Amino acid sequence: MTVPFVPLNSGARIPQLGFGVYKVPADDRERVVSTALELGYRHIDTAKVYRNEAGVGAAIAASGIPRDELFVTTKLWNSDHGRDAARPAIELSLEKLGLDRVDLYLIHWPVPSKRMFVETWHALEEIQALGLATSIGVSNFLPHHLQPLLDAATVVPAVNQIELHPYYQERDAVAFNGDHGIVTEAWAPLGQGALVDEAGVTAIAESYGKSLAQVILRWHIQRGTIVIPKSVHRERMAENIDIFDFELTEAEVRIIDALERGGRVDAHPDDV
Ligand code: NAD
Repeated sequence: MTVPFVPLNSGARIPQLGFGVYKVPADDRERVVSTALELGYRHIDTAKVYRNEAGVGAAIAASGIPRDELFVTTKLWNSDHGRDAARPAIELSLEKLGLDRVDLYLIHWPVPSKRMFVETWHALEEIQALGLATSIGVSNFLPHHLQPLLDAATVVPAVNQIELHPYYQERDAVAFNGDHGIVTEAWAPLGQGALVDEAGVTAIAESYGKSLAQVILRWHIQRGTIVIPKSVHRERMAENIDIFDFELTEAEVRIIDALERGGRVDAHPDDV
């Protein structure tokens, strides 16, 4: 099972499929991440606010997988915006993860009401220069957040992680990211499980002997998007990484494109 890599503007590369750990129950973190690593996932997406960085770190340490074969992302939480808070925030995350650097550090939300995301971005530029994060990026930034950041930035964000699934395709944000050399990463790639059996997609899935989730993840992959599906069930985790042995036709991609209905599952970035 070979997960392709996508090049980042930092010179690093990111496995196109990773494992998200949002809402993995406290008593289950290490087992779930260990299972993911066992199944071949090499890219783990966590965040300070998920309160599971220590479990992720313990599973990584127990795996014995060489550090340079792993891609670990964590995120700066909303209470840590600003130059003074950002550096201690990543140091604490690294301590919990048991790592001396992460592969990707993201500003979790722009929190426009604080008017601090440009200052915070400069702190991330320093964090990258110190080697604490190989690549830096943002999450939940829409074009009207990214433009002022880019106007002031020395480093262009490598990644923008946004809510993205067939019911909510964020076409303007994806185009803006692409125009600026920023790779789009989809959170809730399966709509947090809200994607119901759509007749057209079910027929596509049956024709390949794949599940609905596999077809949706394949749709993301063929658009060049990074995906980080989450599950705590071994079978589903195995299913979600088993998407590199079939290819959707253009007509099938268009059937999924047509599912757009503005159906966000979480908050709007201007309201957080
Ligand atoms: P997701 O779209 O990955 O959905 C997860 C849910 O889908 C599971 O709980 C399960 O109910 C269902 N599911 C998973 N695999 C399945 C399968 N094979 N068949 C049927 N159902 C299946 O949603 P998510 O967990 O919210 O997003 C993925 C990751 O993105 C998170 O774990 C986290 O790492 C990240 N994330 C980031 C942000 C952000 O603000 N940056 C927000 C939310 C999530």
